[in-house]
Amino acid sequence: MDRVTFSSWAGNVVDNRGLDFGKFSAVDNLELPLGYDGYRVAAFMSWNGLVMADDGVNVVDMARSYLTEVKKLACGRCTIGYSGIRVMSDTLNRISGGQGKPEDTDLLGSLAAAISDSSKCDFCALAVKPVLDSLKYYQDVYTGLVTRKKAAPKSVYIIKITAPCMEACPAHQDIPGYIELIENRRYTEALEVIRQTNCFPGTTGRACVAFCEDNCVRNDIDSPLAIRALKRVPADHEAASGLTPVPGRAGESRQKVAVIGAGPAGLAASYSLALKGYQVTVFDEQPAAGGMLSTGIPQYRLPGDVLTRETNIVERLGIEIRPNIKIGSDIKLEQLSQQGFKAVFIATGAHLSRDAGIDNWNERYEGLVQGIKFLREANRGKKIEPRDRVLIVGGGNTAIDCARTCLRLGFKEVTIVYRRSRTEMPARDEEVEAAEKEGVNIHFLAVPTRIITENSRVTAAECIKMELGEPDASGRRRPVPVKGSEFILETDMVLPAIGELPDVSFTKNRVELTDWGGIKVAPSQQTSQPTVFAGGDCVTGPATIIEAVAAGNRAAASIDQYLKQGSITPDQMASLLHQVALDRQRDGGIVAKSQRQSPEELPPAERVLNFNEVEKCLTAEAATEEAGRCLRCYRVMLLAVNEGE
Ligand SMILES: Cc1cc2nc3c(=O)[nH]c(=O)nc-3n(C[C@H](O)[C@H](O)[C@H](O)COP(=O)(O)OP(=O)(O)OC[C@H]3O[C@@H](n4cnc5c(N)ncnc54)[C@H](O)[C@@H]3O)c2cc1C
Ligand code: SF4
Repeated sequence: MDRVTFSSWAGNVVDNRGLDFGKFSAVDNLELPLGYDGYRVAAFMSWNGLVMADDGVNVVDMARSYLTEVKKLACGRCTIGYSGIRVMSDTLNRISGGQGKPEDTDLLGSLAAAISDSSKCDFCALAVKPVLDSLKYYQDVYTGLVTRKKAAPKSVYIIKITAPCMEACPAHQDIPGYIELIENRRYTEALEVIRQTNCFPGTTGRACVAFCEDNCVRNDIDSPLAIRALKRVPADHEAASGLTPVPGRAGESRQKVAVIGAGPAGLAASYSLALKGYQVTVFDEQPAAGGMLSTGIPQYRLPGDVLTRETNIVERLGIEIRPNIKIGSDIKLEQLSQQGFKAVFIATGAHLSRDAGIDNWNERYEGLVQGIKFLREANRGKKIEPRDRVLIVGGGNTAIDCARTCLRLGFKEVTIVYRRSRTEMPARDEEVEAAEKEGVNIHFLAVPTRIITENSRVTAAECIKMELGEPDASGRRRPVPVKGSEFILETDMVLPAIGELPDVSFTKNRVELTDWGGIKVAPSQQTSQPTVFAGGDCVTGPATIIEAVAAGNRAAASIDQYLKQGSITPDQMASLLHQVALDRQRDGGIVAKSQRQSPEELPPAERVLNFNEVEKCLTAEAATEEAGRCLRCYRVMLLAVNEGE
């Protein structure tokens, strides 16, 4: 935005007031959108400062409106925050209403400073910063209203609320909101909050990669909130109570929507669409719903009954799940519109194994199986004869899951061969550590190049040592073979787990694809065909549950808009929210260090004996204590807008 007259964003003051437009200094630390929903953006206020682009906006009324929202979120853990914000809000109401007293501006300033220095969490401490800035740089507007006893003109305000953890979560779950409810053991309400954006609380409470924890403000103080473990607490409580919620539908529409794929993306979209009243049918080629959650993730991390319970809740909304139907062969994509479906959401995941590039590769050899297929068979309870030795190729979570599954099946010597070093391993650290504790060997900087067999049975793999060269496109150092370093690893089985690609051959090029074979979509998840939407791993390549859920939610919102109004309005605030709240820097407030609560785990020697769940649920006491560590870092964001974009 080039017409900013004043900005104090992130402490960087740009004051163009009184200058000719040509002499304006630019604000380069914040990208404000020019318009919102047909309005022109005129000013902005949030936790890190104040930006004015139109002098017609009255800064006092803007601060009043902003603090009204802040007041709703102030929690009451400390008197200075709770009462101080209330007094500030009343004072701003008084001044902007034309009834301010001469001492009011001093009162506001001293309260804001006290709240900033002494609140017990981040929320109030940071929320008052833009009000302080308005007092400092627009004192004349405040005193003008007080002396003239005149009410301030009002603008139209748009309010959004987020937090650093919420912004890091692809589904933007209201994390501080449900954590506070968990602290107070209001588990049913906590689940209601979670299910607004994530219909898999028990599943993600176990297997989510927890991007939110990486961006938790507590990282800079002691250790991040155990958000994933906390989310599991109300979900397990509900399951133990035997109650299965029946979510209420917002209405009924006769419009039918088809979803291809009953993984997390497909089910999240179905859940949202059904809540909006659509008649949803989900087609899946597998006999059971869940996608990779059921065929990939092993039971010791995600027990089958947890997933079944959550897919049942989705079905209870009246969604029809039709298993054993492969789109492309049983039903053609183009037939769906003939069957009356007004829109289609493709969520078919990434299930095609990549070519491992190993010589003498022949899947007819005994002892050569793709890792994904191996996990699917193990998860489905197929009898797998344990061997003495197995080599697993790859460094991601699938490789780790294959290795830990082999141990539980009774394989004696389980070795992962990975071509880079530990630092570059894409698998989560905690998973790698768990595998090593259980007895998995990891052979770094090596790769199998040739399969050696006897009578069509795998007996060994020829490998070559690697060294690390320059970083490649992924930013990780490229593995380079060391000439003449070939060596033999004897084995009875080789399981490649080097990543998967989407199989979207059923689309027959009816939708545009990316150059690597994924489905190309707009940020709304719409494909090149206006009534066809896509999301999850078939768009991104192998990713995570929560990214799939987020894509499903987004697609549902876009399908709803498209079917109602024939077009989709882009989310103009998403990028601003991201800029404003992903930044987790903090100053102010007094926060004591505290110990993160961790769930109990089965001892490694016991784990490998069966597929029992490794991680336990936090106790209610531990959950209350852990939830109490949350700093409620909500960021209120207010845009003042004027007519006409
Ligand atoms: C071994 C393993 C472990 C993982 N662990 C984790 C983890 O701990 N945490 C995490 O966040 N993520 C994990 N992931 C990744 C996560 O499971 C995926 O990112 C997620 O499941 C993708 O969801 P999706 O809905 O896009 O696709 P999927 O879950 O793959 O679901 C796609 C569905 O579409 C169906 N389908 C495909 N083609 C057709 C067709 N033509 N017709 C009808 N149906 C079709 C499939 O049968 C499947 O049910 C793991 C993945 C694997 C492989
Ligand atoms: S302390 Fe709480 S609100 Fe703040 S980032 Fe962490 S989880 Fe989110």
